[in-house]
Amino acid sequence: MLETEVTYWSQFIDFIQQRCSTAEFTNWIAPIRLVSASVDEIVLEVPNVFVQEYLLDNFKDVLADFLPLKSSGEPAIVFVLASQGHKQLPEPEPEIPTLEKQVIQLNPLYTFDHFIEGASNQFVKSAAIGVAARPGKSYNPLFIHGGVGLGKTHLLHSIGHYVAEHHRNLKVQVITTEAFINDIVDALKNKSIDKMKRFYRNLDVLLVDDIQFLQNRLNFEEEFCNTFEALINQNKQIVITCDKAPSNLKLSERLVARMEWGLVAQMGVPDLETRVAIIKHKSESRGLDIPNQIAFYIAEHIYNNVRQLEGAINRLCAHSRLMAQELNQEIVEKILHEMFQLAPSNKKISLENILQSVASIFEVRRTELTGESRHKEIAQARQVAMYLAKELIDDSLQKIAAGFGGKTHSTLIHAWKKIADQIQVNEMLRRQVQMVRKNLNP
Ligand code: ADP
Ligand code: MG
Repeated sequence: MLETEVTYWSQFIDFIQQRCSTAEFTNWIAPIRLVSASVDEIVLEVPNVFVQEYLLDNFKDVLADFLPLKSSGEPAIVFVLASQGHKQLPEPEPEIPTLEKQVIQLNPLYTFDHFIEGASNQFVKSAAIGVAARPGKSYNPLFIHGGVGLGKTHLLHSIGHYVAEHHRNLKVQVITTEAFINDIVDALKNKSIDKMKRFYRNLDVLLVDDIQFLQNRLNFEEEFCNTFEALINQNKQIVITCDKAPSNLKLSERLVARMEWGLVAQMGVPDLETRVAIIKHKSESRGLDIPNQIAFYIAEHIYNNVRQLEGAINRLCAHSRLMAQELNQEIVEKILHEMFQLAPSNKKISLENILQSVASIFEVRRTELTGESRHKEIAQARQVAMYLAKELIDDSLQKIAAGFGGKTHSTLIHAWKKIADQIQVNEMLRRQVQMVRKNLNP
């Protein structure tokens, strides 16, 4: 390379260094390596395509001012991806700080072995195993979302256990979003923010639980985003859990886009067979034998939250320890009846049943279904509820429509037609509607 040819790149670097923040520069520009430069073109090595896109999206015009151009007028850059494992960034400083405050530990019971698989969670479980087996090399980040009590934290910790066991040289940390925020607050107080930043940025695998708590915490969002970018651009693995999909989070567009980079996987509500398997597994590990018939009976009545299933098993365990009595349906009913979510299935399905079921499967609030919001996800869930109400409730259309916050019967028919059409072509929607039906008619 000739001296002059190297200079146009370094001139470009000097120019933008003055125009972006230090974090931006460290995360996005510093990892780019100059491979060769001539009067015709420049070859740059980037750690991943995101860095390449970032450069072109943000600095194309500036690049065109400094670099050789193609005949089309575009900057003549050839990008090569760094081979995996090849380090782009300067070597981390030898001494890696540990945080004085102990961040949360892995729950010893939350392992892949104890995670029961079924149609609702097969995909997300295999994605989690993929990430744990090859951190930073398959999907990055992995974003897991779903309703409460469905096993997100369990799966997150399973990844932690697996990495700790199979990749002993990798530094893995699981943290709740609350704890991350508290760490920043403490570090600011103790003037140890650099130490804290170094701690996080030196991890190989960062597991973040409940990212929804970052909403409305503007100052912390930026720090999180910087940590995120620093790790991703070194091909370090990030896994995030959340109670909603990235696009439904009230976070900056920048951060939402980052979270959608890798794989977004939804944790569904387990079907009847899976719930039965979970009941059997959990009760056996507590030394209680629940007959199949009883397990089915419980699974039919507690259906959209695995944590509640566990609560039910705990109650039965406590009971059977006190009373040396064999479990039968009658006893189980007596012990658990206030936990049961729906009246036995011979009772007529009410609009309220449908609204609750739709709300839990589509992850929207029950009140949004009878509200006015035109937000895409909510509007679709509302139409599904209307569709099912028309299908399942034996009442006048006027009356059913009125139950949706005073809608007219033509709105109801319109929604019914729309969903009836969509489920012919949209496999995902068809399955969701099926899940609601199943919950209503266990
Ligand atoms: P979330 O983080 O989604 O709210 P958790 O991971 O805390 O849910 O799960 C709640 C409880 O249900 C935990 O005790 C967990 O072990 C259990 N659980 C959830 N899904 C499964 C599953 N598929 N197999 C076994 N246990 C499960
Ligand atoms: Mg959780």
